[in-house]
Amino acid sequence: MNGTLREYFRKRNFDRTPEPAGRVQPQSSKEALRFVIQKHAARRLHYDLRLELDGVLKCWAIPRGPSSDPNERRLAVAIEDHPLEYASFEGAIPEGEYGAGEVIVWDAGVYSPDQDSTFFFGDRVGAEERVRRGLAQGSLSIFFWGYKLAGSWSLTRRRGSETEWFLVKRDDLFGEPSRELQTEDRSVLSGRTIEDLREESAPMQARRRA
Ligand code: MN
Repeated sequence: MNGTLREYFRKRNFDRTPEPAGRVQPQSSKEALRFVIQKHAARRLHYDLRLELDGVLKCWAIPRGPSSDPNERRLAVAIEDHPLEYASFEGAIPEGEYGAGEVIVWDAGVYSPDQDSTFFFGDRVGAEERVRRGLAQGSLSIFFWGYKLAGSWSLTRRRGSETEWFLVKRDDLFGEPSRELQTEDRSVLSGRTIEDLREESAPMQARRRA
């Protein structure tokens, strides 16, 4: 079973956007499944959660970003699959293009389904099978091992909705109700903030003045 990038391609003009064109990747890796969260300063700032599955990234847009407080549930709206290459994308999508605005890799790492404390970090086939089932059922428990996010989280589809999910930190050793994740605003790949990218992509004249 493979994901599809039809919708991803339909929405973008690759002559104009710096985003990767990409394609569905064959299943060759034996390594743990990857995840990434990109901070995206589009018309409305949001965070995009992307989970590697079936050769693509399954994606959710989270308007307020994740919270490490188990009492905070965050809306996560399912959006189109993205190519695996997108996981390392940082840059400025130009004005007038789909999703115009700056993107940084806010967090990255590996993940495993962890329902009933059964982990699949060493078993990619088993991991994908479990994730596929969870997504189909609208209920998935995930263990993140990233630079910022760690521990167990639940991703649950809102009853009666196709696209609305909730991401909630599960109550475990990694829960930190007082941690303000959104103040940790640097890219885990480059150390840059959204504002840094904005300055870099400013017109040459503005840069020369600096
Ligand atoms: Mn986005």
